[in-house]
Amino acid sequence: MKTFVEQAEKNGIKLLHSGPCQFCHAPVEAGVYKCFELFSQALNLLDLSKPEVYITRFLSVDSHALQHSEVHGRWNNHLHLTRLHLIIERKFIWDYKKTPILSDVLKKYKKNNSNEYLSPPSAGQRGLITISDIQNAKNASELIKIIHEWAISVYQVYAVYHKIVAGIADEFEESVWK
Ligand SMILES: [Zn+2]
Repeated sequence: MKTFVEQAEKNGIKLLHSGPCQFCHAPVEAGVYKCFELFSQALNLLDLSKPEVYITRFLSVDSHALQHSEVHGRWNNHLHLTRLHLIIERKFIWDYKKTPILSDVLKKYKKNNSNEYLSPPSAGQRGLITISDIQNAKNASELIKIIHEWAISVYQVYAVYHKIVAGIADEFEESVWK
């Protein structure tokens, strides 16, 4: 998997080293680099070996990825937004086995929808919560709560694509129950 720096290069995006994050507008001082550094430490308060925090981890990955679409692969928005749909709207208890199933569903989907882009909202319009808020959590339960709010706020700003991902989620459900 490419790093965000390699992916930005591939997409022809110039990354800035200063000021707020150019994508999510998190009020940091070293730009997107600091945003990703904080993200890599975001779950430090949690014991990630415990299944009950898996959902929080998936929600954090989806939220951050959807706030930084320009430095991810072009089909990543489909995957992360569909997963948010399944967790938030359909109350799926996500686990590590389900992501490869969703990836397979998306592989087929891509063939029939090769021109489809889920363009992100403008920079800074991708949800009111950013990594800076996540960083301020004082304990594990506060962190879990704010990450869930983060995910909902990001999911909502992509409302224009909810119908598309609901269709992908239907196919996913068929694959899971098969
Ligand atoms: Zn950011």
